[in-house]
Amino acid sequence: MLLRNGSVTDVDGSRVADVRVGADGTIAAVGPALAASPGEVEVDVTGRLVVPGGVDVHTHFHLPVGQVRVSDDFLSGTIAAAIGGTTTIVDYVTAYRGEDPLAALATWRRWAEPAVVDYGLHMTFTEAVPERVIADCVEAGVTSFKLYMAYPQLLQVDDDVILDVMRAATRHGGLVTLHCENGGAIEALRRQALAAGRTGVLEHAATRPAVLEAQAVTRAAALAEAADASVYLVHLSSAPALAAVREAAERGVDVLAETCPQYLYLDTQRLAGPDGESFVCTPPLRDPWHAEELWEGMARGTIHTVATDHCPFTVDDRRAGTHDRPGGWADFTEIPGGLPGVETRLGLVWEGVSAGRITVADWVRLCAEAPAREFGLWPAKGNLRPGADADVVVWDPAREQSLDADALHMHTDHSPYAGMHVHGWPELVLSRGRVVARDGRFVGEPATGRYRPRLPRSR
Ligand SMILES: [Zn+2]
Repeated sequence: MLLRNGSVTDVDGSRVADVRVGADGTIAAVGPALAASPGEVEVDVTGRLVVPGGVDVHTHFHLPVGQVRVSDDFLSGTIAAAIGGTTTIVDYVTAYRGEDPLAALATWRRWAEPAVVDYGLHMTFTEAVPERVIADCVEAGVTSFKLYMAYPQLLQVDDDVILDVMRAATRHGGLVTLHCENGGAIEALRRQALAAGRTGVLEHAATRPAVLEAQAVTRAAALAEAADASVYLVHLSSAPALAAVREAAERGVDVLAETCPQYLYLDTQRLAGPDGESFVCTPPLRDPWHAEELWEGMARGTIHTVATDHCPFTVDDRRAGTHDRPGGWADFTEIPGGLPGVETRLGLVWEGVSAGRITVADWVRLCAEAPAREFGLWPAKGNLRPGADADVVVWDPAREQSLDADALHMHTDHSPYAGMHVHGWPELVLSRGRVVARDGRFVGEPATGRYRPRLPRSR
């Protein structure tokens, strides 16, 4: 296939050029006025952008959460991803306490088989692990390790475990990703709220204040500095947390930060509405001024990636809650948390380009290039150089797309962005040279995505 005359934008800049997709599913050539080969399909993409497929390094497909399960599996989730222009996802495996991480990895590998775009996996540890396990994961292509500073009952680990895993991961070319919130302090605030009879949805945000996110970011950066390690902070949500990242980066700590579209577009007041429970996510939605700071952090490079933390539920599952109670959840601590987003990320971040907050180059870097580089998918993913996988998005900046649930393909009946339109959407999406989405419709086949072992980092 030859994509003619598009505005090609990737790590090598922006230029009007042709892109040749080779029969082997890689980029064969990029340049002006390429001569057509016999039998080659030529597609005129004048006036559209041609960019590397999106890389979403934070998804949760198929995940059980208490008595319910997230509503997208790897098939429906990757179909939605493809339609929205994301051609690689990296999902989080969790090894719960007492579980063998490699057995958990095998479970996720099985769940992921129906995927329609390429995928990698991160590993979440919820307790101390021997260094051999980290080496085995890296050997299996799992080169990033998530640890939680929150959720003491289920997931949280102490600083000694974080520092041990940082050291061991660094020795093996791995990267630690951290959920930064002060879990102990949050537990106290939650207990106090429940004891005072404050059980409503808004308490979810009130008991997880931004200052406790910022304090955890500072602690994470200190641990990385002491371990001589890089650290990646997932779903940064607030201005104080961003300030803590900037402060650590300025003294030379290699702190990589991710944010998500929900923190750029949605605010705490959503939790007060009639469908407030459908806006529960962690960290919680903040007041609107935080989003202004996050956009600026994206433009300045303090924030490196935009991922989604895609973790959708249906309205009924949300109401039912994580505990099996007649009538559904009894208080805010029983509402399953997480939002859909894998389909809408590129469109929502593109709105920031239209608004002049970030550049086209920033959009490509935040959504494709940087996540590919930081998570060992580069140079196969995240760029359009010859030899890279032909994961290509033809982006139509003139296409208007509704973000209502029934206009999207994620397997949920609630859209946090209902009523909103974005102005820019994929016209054509290729995964390793195969057309997987065209004009907002999935046209691929199940189980054509491949597991991508990720490369160790070199320092
Ligand atoms: Zn997550």
